[in-house]
Amino acid sequence: MIDEGAESGNTTGPAPVVALFSGLDPTGGAGIAADIIAVRDTGAYALPFLTANTVQGQNVKARFVPIDPTFLLDQIQAVFPSIQTESVKIGMIGTPAIFHLILNAVTRFFPGIPVVLDPVASASSGGCLVSPASRDAILAAGSQIRLLTPNLLELEWLAGHAIRHSDDLDRALAIVGRHGFQAVLVKGGHGEGDPEDKLFIDRKQVEAWKGRRVPVSPRGTGCRLAAFIAGKLASGDDLIHAVHAAYQYVQCYILGSPFTGCTR
Ligand code: PLP
Repeated sequence: MIDEGAESGNTTGPAPVVALFSGLDPTGGAGIAADIIAVRDTGAYALPFLTANTVQGQNVKARFVPIDPTFLLDQIQAVFPSIQTESVKIGMIGTPAIFHLILNAVTRFFPGIPVVLDPVASASSGGCLVSPASRDAILAAGSQIRLLTPNLLELEWLAGHAIRHSDDLDRALAIVGRHGFQAVLVKGGHGEGDPEDKLFIDRKQVEAWKGRRVPVSPRGTGCRLAAFIAGKLASGDDLIHAVHAAYQYVQCYILGSPFTGCTR
């Protein structure tokens, strides 16, 4: 918790804190910039840690430079001992070494807090945002992750096969389940027809959110969804309520309507 009210003269009380680990997208649409906004929109306080810097833009294939892990560790060690953190969101991991360092630090300083992992593999504008070893590193971390939030392309990448039918999806969930991921939110935006996001716990579908396909696809929807969930979990929401609120939040973002703080 961090007492923002004390500094600003307000008496709003302490805000729950979310640590964000993500890349910098200089268009401002995705990555850490989007994460910070989404966390603030939950009422939580964001601690932004950069995992990588990227070059990207319209018609520019993305490329990235990971942050120096020693430097990131120094940043974490400067901040974590004095700021109680209630949840973590990890997006672009940079490299497996950076990812391990983050998970070790979270376990050391805040054991048991929920970690939401958005397994970012490619940029919305095209171009790869992971190193080849990242897939194995992500799979190996399954038991440390409260919620995995892949879109269909990211789930295909993790599972190692195409997902066309429901039995392909079952097989993919079995693979990530074997790696210890209990809760998986599969985002349907890359499928056909009206998109449906489905929440699975232990491979059983526990909830689904069906939207309407619209002819726009703004950047950073996956980032915002995962960061908003982390913000809600930090505030004490249970997983289903957190995902539901985040789904509504991202719908407002996609449709360009102001977010009105809608919750279930
Ligand atoms: N993180 C970074 C740094 C990015 O640049 C991107 C996309 O370009 C993403 C994450 C993933 O964005 P989205 O939420 O559109 O999947």
